Amino acid sequence: MTLQVGDILLDRIVEMEIPFMTPADAFPDSPAGIIEEHRHWMEPTALCPESGMLIIAIQTWIIRTPQHLILVDTCIGCDKTNHYFESWHKRTDDSWYLKLLDKGINPAEVDFVFCTHLHGDHCGWNTRLVDGRWIPTFPNAKYIIARQEIDQAALDNAPAYQESVLPIIETGQVVAVDTDYALDDQVWLQPTPGHTPGHVAVHLASKGQRAVLCGDLIHSPLQCLYPHWKYWIDFDQKESIQTRKSFLEARCADNNLVLTAHFPSPSTGYVEARDGAFWFRFSN
Ligand SMILES: [Zn+2]
Repeated sequence: MTLQVGDILLDRIVEMEIPFMTPADAFPDSPAGIIEEHRHWMEPTALCPESGMLIIAIQTWIIRTPQHLILVDTCIGCDKTNHYFESWHKRTDDSWYLKLLDKGINPAEVDFVFCTHLHGDHCGWNTRLVDGRWIPTFPNAKYIIARQEIDQAALDNAPAYQESVLPIIETGQVVAVDTDYALDDQVWLQPTPGHTPGHVAVHLASKGQRAVLCGDLIHSPLQCLYPHWKYWIDFDQKESIQTRKSFLEARCADNNLVLTAHFPSPSTGYVEARDGAFWFRFSN
């Protein structure tokens, strides 16, 4: 899949696309049984008919601008500690890395790695375990991460920070930026706090065309209809609801392409208003 936004080329690497959690567990505020109203449009791509779980993708976006090769969010990775999900814990499946190479990407040629935030499914491949040491997967890249996000992660000191962030701070590759940082006039950040304190969206613009990578400010097309549902692990639930609502309103108004982190494939589309609610119209 290659998308184009002006002269920016977009591609992705899906590490996994799986039934993940039931809507009731993912969205604790959702009324019991409400999923019955939505099965007809969600199954089988966004809701697994067998398990009743939401289907989510875990993926990295590849951005090629005329100047830079950029990756946004680096999935779960191998050998990482994860206390939440057993299937994410100490993975040995390195197909993400092989797909990267298959796409002709030499890790040494990646200029920038952006992390929308520092949960374990967004920074895992920042590093690899080689001979018992965490080394940067991208030896020549600068890792662009919001300062606020790094500060919170350092405070929490979770395995994702120890294994996927600290080693690249130590090699001097992390650039701690403001949440409205601009790389240039084609790639810049927007603060979208709530899911985590320093969560950012990544905006792209070229030749009058626009797109935005929304990270984890929203998790399922179902949540477009109910932006006031908090996601189970949102850090500041009130703030995440505000961020989600204003993001959906803005995309409805500007009709910019949205590249999601977790919506099922193709994971991209547009926000529209229909019957008094937001809907996500997937693009092909
Ligand atoms: Zn995530």
